[in-house]
Order: sequence, then structure tokens, then C-alpha cells
Amino acid sequence: MDCVFCRIVSGELRGYKVYEDEQFFAFLDINPIRPGHILVIPKTHCVNIFDTPEVFSERYYSVVQKLSRSVSNAMLADGINVFQLNGSAAGQIVLHSHIHIVPRHKDDGASLSHDNRMKLEDAELKSICSRIIEHI
Ligand code: AMP
Ligand code: ZN
Repeated sequence: MDCVFCRIVSGELRGYKVYEDEQFFAFLDINPIRPGHILVIPKTHCVNIFDTPEVFSERYYSVVQKLSRSVSNAMLADGINVFQLNGSAAGQIVLHSHIHIVPRHKDDGASLSHDNRMKLEDAELKSICSRIIEHI
């Protein structure tokens, strides 16, 4: 199966990993809405909220909660957006279930759409990655 997120989990594709346990994996979004934007995914391939095995669902939220705190503390955020797009009609592009965590600052003017995403240099992504890991 040609799934970009499965390839990141297996290490075949480079990902800026911030967290991994037996069931979940989290890494920096490559085109972030704001610096510190991460994605949390189940390691087992599933598409979205509709086919995610219930056995993962509860833990999914608790991993998202834990990592929201880490991202918030690492990026000194004033708030956090947590969201998931389910189905192409809802804007889902990558068909491997993922929950977005986006740190927000007062009046940062960011939009949650796919437009106007940031492009960060490798060094900046690496530095953000380490900062989040230090706060886990
Ligand atoms: P969506 O499916 O609409 O939630 O969007 C997919 C998200 O995955 C977007 O925010 C992309 O920037 C992000 N993305 C796509 N490919 C990669 C990748 N190779 N590494 C990290 N993030 C990615
Ligand atoms: Zn996958």
C-alpha cells in the first residue's frame, strides 16, 4: 500500500518524529499552519474516524491531550487547535487517520485551511522537534 504516513512510521520516509509508543506516532506537519504544528496518527493504517478500531479511539484522545500540553509548553502557546478532517468532502488529503495539533498565539492571524501554509527550513524543523520532545 502506498501510504505516505505508513512510510514515515516504517522509517522509509523522513519524518520529524516527536513521539512514538506501541500504537501511536506523532511528527511535525511538513507544511505547518504555525510552527509546532504536529500530526498524531495510529501506527496501524486506518483512513479516518469511521474505520479506526474502537480499541484505539480512547487512547488516541489521551495521546492527543498529552501532546497538546507538550506543544503548548514548548511553543509558549496561548491556545491550541485540535482537529481532524474525515473524508475528501471534509478536506482530508492524506488518507491515513491523523489529528492535527496546532499551537496558536494571540492575533497570529493563521487560518486552518490548506492555503497559506508555512515552509520551514530543515534546521528550524529540527529545532522545533527537539523543543517539543524536551517538553514530553
Ligand atoms: P489533511 O489530510 O487535509 O488533514 O492534510 C494532510 C496534512 O498532512 C497536511 O497538513 C500536510 O501538510 C501534511 N503532510 C503531508 N505530507 C506530509 C509529510 N510527508 N510529512 C509531514 N506532514 C505531511
Ligand atoms: Zn497508512
